[in-house]
Amino acid sequence: MNTIQIKDKLFTVSIKEQEIQKEVIRVANEINRDLAGKNPLLLSVLNGSFMFTADLLKHITIPCEISFVKLASYQGVSSTGTIKEVIGINEDIAGRTVVIVEDIVDTGLTMQRLLETLGTRRPQEIHIASLLVKPDKLKVDLNIEYVAMNIPNDFIVGYGLDYDGFGRNYPDIYTVID
Ligand code: 5GP
Repeated sequence: MNTIQIKDKLFTVSIKEQEIQKEVIRVANEINRDLAGKNPLLLSVLNGSFMFTADLLKHITIPCEISFVKLASYQGVSSTGTIKEVIGINEDIAGRTVVIVEDIVDTGLTMQRLLETLGTRRPQEIHIASLLVKPDKLKVDLNIEYVAMNIPNDFIVGYGLDYDGFGRNYPDIYTVID
């Protein structure tokens, strides 16, 4: 299935499942190497990162915990730059090594807000793992240590990411064409 239609938009496949899995395993290995002995708390940002989180976790071999937060910042195909926290952080993260697991960093404003929120809870350190980054759209200075793939500025769906709620179920990533 090279082309899919979601509502009014056409998308074409841009990153195949096999390539995604290869990069996710590489990121997991980097985390295993860097955070051994730190019992990291992985904080997955719902909804978009659920598939990335599941695949990543299967390849994390060091002791770790997982928790979920939910934010909303996107309607349609352009970022509003505002976020609302829907599900908060239940864990005590004071003194912990936290790894934020995000689906995509676009302008970076969502991540910046999340870092600010988490920072007030006195974690030992916060790392960022993002499946995708659009480097040309970044508006803020972020140290995104773990990146599976950098992509161009186009709107994408699949592998957890949606267009208006649909398209999260595809194992490949698709780019909008029309
Ligand atoms: P930022 O605050 O970095 O501009 O936006 C981050 C959020 O916007 C992501 O967590 C994601 O929900 C959404 N987003 C940004 N780019 C895309 C995209 O190409 N496709 C989809 N489906 N969501 C995106």
